Amino acid sequence: MLNLSESERAMLWDELAQSIEGYARRVDDLNVSPKLNPSALRTVLAAFDFESAVSPTEAIRFAAESLSEHQVHTPHPRYFGLYNPAPTTMGIAADALVAAFNPQLAAWSHSPFAAEVERHLIEQLGRRFGYPAASIDGTFCSGGAEANHTGLLAAITHAFPGFAESGSRNLAGQPALYISTDAHDSIRKAARVSGIGSAAVRTVPVDSRYRMDLAALSAAINEDRANGLLPFLIVGTAGTTSSGTVDPLHELADIAWRESLWFHVDAAWGGAAALSPVVRDSVAGLERADSITFDAHKWLSVPMGAGVFITRHPKILSRTFETVNAYMPRDASGLDIVDPFSHSLQWSRRFIGLKVFLSLLVAGWDGYRKAIEHQVRMGELLRTRLAESGWRIVNDTPLPLVCFAPKSMTDPSDREPIDRIAQFVVRSGVAWISSTILGGKHATLRACITNYRTQPDDVEALVNVLAQARSSSQ
Ligand SMILES: *Cc1c(COP(=O)(O)O)cnc(C)c1O
Repeated sequence: MLNLSESERAMLWDELAQSIEGYARRVDDLNVSPKLNPSALRTVLAAFDFESAVSPTEAIRFAAESLSEHQVHTPHPRYFGLYNPAPTTMGIAADALVAAFNPQLAAWSHSPFAAEVERHLIEQLGRRFGYPAASIDGTFCSGGAEANHTGLLAAITHAFPGFAESGSRNLAGQPALYISTDAHDSIRKAARVSGIGSAAVRTVPVDSRYRMDLAALSAAINEDRANGLLPFLIVGTAGTTSSGTVDPLHELADIAWRESLWFHVDAAWGGAAALSPVVRDSVAGLERADSITFDAHKWLSVPMGAGVFITRHPKILSRTFETVNAYMPRDASGLDIVDPFSHSLQWSRRFIGLKVFLSLLVAGWDGYRKAIEHQVRMGELLRTRLAESGWRIVNDTPLPLVCFAPKSMTDPSDREPIDRIAQFVVRSGVAWISSTILGGKHATLRACITNYRTQPDDVEALVNVLAQARSSSQ
């Protein structure tokens, strides 16, 4: 039963193709978000005790129908959400192919094609981000959180060469790293689980445009040094999760250089701006980072998970992750190769890069440039239409992410009216947006053009449902 017969497989692939194609054709007509009812779902699932067999096609149909009914449809053109795109068709096909061939990305010799595709992609992306070709190194990751964790570990290994062996125990003081109030919390989590503790994370306030405040950063570094802390890392964000804001990367690079600190840029979403001349300037300075987090499963629209960690320090990943062991294959010894497991937090690993490779092969950089520019235009349209419809725009970014609040709002820290509006929109099923807090204090609505298929009609539908939400909440 684990391997189905040829005729069963034929029927199964048929059913699978229909499920995938059916969803692609139907998703625009679905409610963007589901009704949330955990007990109903548990009741349905409780009936499956795995004592009696279900036919393969029935099983696929059940899964596809259930997903269709019980998820936020991130591939929907009116999902204005958290960077979860509509997956590329080639990405979907790539993930199926990877599951079938099951290449093992731990040792190079087990899947030379897969390992070299990923090496090639890292180099290509590194060049697009402005790194000199000869010094580019990196690894594919599960996502941005793992890439940020990798960046933290690389930075700490660079600053404290004894860390790999002795951990933080033998350090002369508390290590310190610097992020802005609006940086992604995966950095804090990485600090916790890497053993340096969340106390290592110094949160620098943001300026009036929600960018890391440079004077406050310099002051914090000075004060920490005076108090015996050991600064080792500045993390800038190129496209914050809440507002798409890009920290002043050149200035952060200057400070990092002056203070001899590692400079990591979390460009999980915003890094894709480097692929279009229209918005490339907004991430200028990215090339000065010691390392970069980039998420192909965000603006490159491949299925999750596809993070990338890229550095211009070719030795640092080996120094951070390489271990010596007896059991890994030795087939490639003597060849000029890198075993992926020696560059990564992961060991056995799936072929993450294929979905990026096949999407790029078919769309080309130019296809991506067009998609990015379309989304930027839709972002501008949304910004304009919201301003015309009486909303106050509160963020400042050329990237297609709009933060906005009712003009009538008197207390910018009051999240309640903001949440009510977001909830109204989500429950309507017409669109999905969220709310968030900027700079640790300003409540805002947040709508992001995550989908390359979003059109002016979709923007208009959002503006309309927002108008209803506002009047019903007054
Ligand atoms: C999404 C995001 C992350 C986390 O990435 P995952 O892929 O969810 O692990 C980190 N930083 C930023 C700026 C992000 O937008």
